[in-house]
Amino acid sequence: MRTFEKSTKLSDVCYDIRGRVLEQARRMEEEGHRILKLNIGNPAPFGFEAPDDILKDVIHQLPDAQGYTDAKGIYAARVAVMQYYQQMRVGPLHLDNIFIGNGVSELIVMAMQALLDDGDEVLLPAPDYPLWTAAVRLAGGTPVHYRCDEQAGWFPDIADMEKKVTSRTKAVVLINPNNPTGAVYSPALLNDVVTLARKHQLMLFSDEIYDKIIYDGQQHHCIASMAEDLVCCTLGGLSKNYRVAGFRVGWLVVTGALNRAKGYLDGLNMLASMRMCANVPCQHAIQTALGGYQSIDDLVKPEGRLCRQRDIAFEGLNAIDGISCVKPSGAMYCFARVDTKRYKVENDELLMLDILEREKILLVHGSAFNLQDGCYFRVVFLPHETQLRGAMDQLAHYFSHFQPV
Ligand code: PLP
Repeated sequence: MRTFEKSTKLSDVCYDIRGRVLEQARRMEEEGHRILKLNIGNPAPFGFEAPDDILKDVIHQLPDAQGYTDAKGIYAARVAVMQYYQQMRVGPLHLDNIFIGNGVSELIVMAMQALLDDGDEVLLPAPDYPLWTAAVRLAGGTPVHYRCDEQAGWFPDIADMEKKVTSRTKAVVLINPNNPTGAVYSPALLNDVVTLARKHQLMLFSDEIYDKIIYDGQQHHCIASMAEDLVCCTLGGLSKNYRVAGFRVGWLVVTGALNRAKGYLDGLNMLASMRMCANVPCQHAIQTALGGYQSIDDLVKPEGRLCRQRDIAFEGLNAIDGISCVKPSGAMYCFARVDTKRYKVENDELLMLDILEREKILLVHGSAFNLQDGCYFRVVFLPHETQLRGAMDQLAHYFSHFQPV
């Protein structure tokens, strides 16, 4: 009998955040276990609700949102995105070069499909948000990972980036604020990346979906504002800053040396048209979100819920013997290192499976973020204080009774 396998295009594509460990968690839930899911940055289930005006607006617009829109998105949303980046002094900005998508995820895939020929190389961070690596591979490209240096607060190692540029390198990707490390890049670091991209004529992609989730009075800087002579693609969205991950709303903004990106923009336009348009009711949320009261600021200030939880996770992890983690300056994750001299771990995925079995906590292993060296895991710090403290106690208990895995 004929069987149907996945296409060979997918043989190298991998997205381990939703992989083997998650499947095991599902099986355990079916058996009746309660699993604490610290594996994905999905704010709403942890009580981080969207601002009311966004919900009201979408409901209000629903009757008028039944038809397709322009493939790039509704006018009001694109104007709002344009104004958002104008305030950050990004330019030149044109409505024609702003694409609204079904989340940043869709736009990452489109951005790579529009750019890459087979064998083209893209520089990506290690650790990365693995959709980027998957999207490069799906588009036929070759992901080349540059090192982010834990000793330097997980900032990209520019010398390593430089070493990895070849004649096939087309672009460099930054994730800032970073998932999974929580690093927020300084202007000096961004400037070094711009200099490298300028020298090698690379396109710049900057995934800034966490640009409002910044702690300790630090500031986010949009790299596109420093690189008007380069072709820059900045990505952002509503999933995290406005806690509506389920609405699937994001944007891609192409700025800079647009005369060098005409063909690329043609490609993006074609791909945008092929999927007709992004989900229309939720496109209406963009203007209200960006123009309304920024309630996220209340959550990230020192006494805000998200900042307090960041501290609990950071302190809780560092208090465990042989576990350490750099303090995240942004986003919603702690990326913890396991001292493998202290704990014998054959494989970081096995460690996650063991923690899941014993403590009923679902985490993601470091190698799922395309980090091959060392042993790490990512903790989402979205649960309420009491639950998060409980999870830290359980992890401490797990490591104090550790059996080699
Ligand atoms: N980019 C990064 C760095 C992320 O962490 C995520 C989700 O976790 C996404 C993109 C996907 O976002 P969206 O919900 O807009 O598809």
